[in-house]
Amino acid sequence: MNHLLEEWKMTNLGFVIDNRKCIGCHACTVACKSEHDVPIGVNRTHVKYIEIGTYPDTSREFSVHRCNHCEYAPCTTICPTTALFTRFDGIVDFDDERCIGCKSCMQACPYDALYIDPNKGTAAKCNYCAHRIENSYEPACVIVCPVEAIVSGDLDDPNSSISNYVEEHEVTVRKPEAGTKPQVYYVETSHEMLDPLATQRGAYAWTEQAAGVGHFAKYASKRLSDADTPSMLVQLALEVKARNAAPRDQAIIKDVAERLNNDQLEIKRAYDQPSKGILWDNEVAGYILAKAAATGAYILCMLDISFGLGLLNFPISNVILFSVGMLSVTGLLLISDLDRPERFLYVILRPNWNSWLVKGAYTISGFAFVLFVHGVMLWYGVGETYHVMLACIGIPLAWLTGTYTGWLLKQAKGRPQWADKSNASIAIQGSLEMLFFGGLLHLAATIILLYTSTFLAMTIILLSVLMFTYIGFLQIRGDLRKAQMESLL
Ligand code: SF4
Repeated sequence: MNHLLEEWKMTNLGFVIDNRKCIGCHACTVACKSEHDVPIGVNRTHVKYIEIGTYPDTSREFSVHRCNHCEYAPCTTICPTTALFTRFDGIVDFDDERCIGCKSCMQACPYDALYIDPNKGTAAKCNYCAHRIENSYEPACVIVCPVEAIVSGDLDDPNSSISNYVEEHEVTVRKPEAGTKPQVYYVETSHEMLDPLATQRGAYAWTEQAAGVGHFAKYASKRLSDADTPSMLVQLALEVKARNAAPRDQAIIKDVAERLNNDQLEIKRAYDQPSKGILWDNEVAGYILAKAAATGAYILCMLDISFGLGLLNFPISNVILFSVGMLSVTGLLLISDLDRPERFLYVILRPNWNSWLVKGAYTISGFAFVLFVHGVMLWYGVGETYHVMLACIGIPLAWLTGTYTGWLLKQAKGRPQWADKSNASIAIQGSLEMLFFGGLLHLAATIILLYTSTFLAMTIILLSVLMFTYIGFLQIRGDLRKAQMESLL
C-alpha cells in the first residue's frame, strides 16, 4: 500500500486527444455516461463539431472536450466545502457528500467542464475514472475509443506513452491564457475549435439548442458583425486596386485576395453540448442588494453618531432592526440559491479557507453577532458611547460584508468580466452599492420625519424608494447575466 501511495504522489495524470484520429463517433461520451450513470442532458465528456467552408468546399472537425484536470484548478479554490479537490496523482476529483450545489465551481471553470447533477443537486464532472485508475485500469473513454484518439497516463513519467506523445507532437491546450495549466493536450486542432468565441452557438444542423439565452442572444450577433467589418473593407480595397494594376501585380493581389478568402472560410459550430444558461440570477442579485442595504444603513448611522453630525433622523434601534431584517433576507436568498440548501452549514463547518464564499460567510456571521450585541445593549438601555465603541468593529465588518461578493466573483476565472476587475474597482463598486441602498433608507426616513405629515406624501416617498431599489436590482441582475452570457465551450 505504501509503495502504491509513493507511486501516486509522483504521478501527474493527463490526457492527449489526437484530433487527427478522432472520427466524432461519441463512443467516449456514451462509455462515460454508462460508467458513471450520467443523467440525460448533461455530460462529463462530449464531442464538439465545427464545419468549415461552404458547399462544396467543406470539412468537419471533431474534438473531445472535458475537465482539463488543471494544475492550478480554480474550481478547487472557489469551492467552499472542498467538495472539489486535487488528488496526489493530479486528478481533480469531487465528493458528492460535501457539495452544497452553490455552482461557484461552474463559474470558476474556464472550460465549462462541470454540471449540476439533476438527480442529486450536486456538481459533477470527469474525474478521470479515478475508481478504475485505483484498480490499474484505464479510463472508460480510453478503452472504448475505436481509433485510440484518447491517450491517458502519467505526463511526468518520461517513459510513458503519453509523455512520448507530447514530446513528439506539436500539442496545444485550451485557453492557456486562463493560467490554469490544463493537463489535456490536443494534437492538431484548430484555433476555431478551441476558442469558444470563434464560433457561435445556434443554427445547429443536428441539435435544437437556442442561440444564447433568451433576449441576450443579441450580443452574439453584435460580435459577429463587429468581427466581419474590417476584413470586408480590406477585401473591397484590394478589388479596386486589382482592377487598375499591372498584370504581374494583379496576380499577386489575386493571390492575397484568395488567401484572405480562405482565412474567412465560414466556420460554424455544428454540435456541442447544451448551454447551461444563467447560473446566478434573481437570488444572487437580491442577496447583493439586501446585504448592501443592511450594511450601508448601519455604516451611515454609526458614522453619523460617531462624528456627532446629526444629519440622519433614524433612531439607532430602527437601524439595527432594519439591518437585522435585511441580513436575514440576505441569508435566506443565499440558502435558497443552493441546489442542496439543507447543507448550507457545511460552508461554516467544512470550510475551504481559500474560498471567498467561506470568508464571506464568516464575515456575515461576525457582522450579525455585532448587530446582536447592539440589540442587547439597546435592550438594557446602554449609552450611545458604547454603541460607538462597538461600531469600531462593526463598521469594518459591515464594509467587508457589503463588498466581499466582488472578490468572490473575481475568483470565478471562467467569467472574465468578473475575474479581470481590479481590487480598487471592487472596493469602490461595493461601497457605492452600500451608499445607494443604505442611503435610500436614511433619505426616506429623514424626509418623512422632517418634511411630511400627510399619508399621500409618505406613500409617494415609499413608492419612490421601492422604485429606485427595483432599478438598482435590475442593474445588478443585468450585470450578473451579461457576464454569464459568454460561451465557454
Ligand atoms: Fe476541470 Fe474546470 Fe476544474 Fe480545470 S477548472 S480542473 S477544467 S473543472
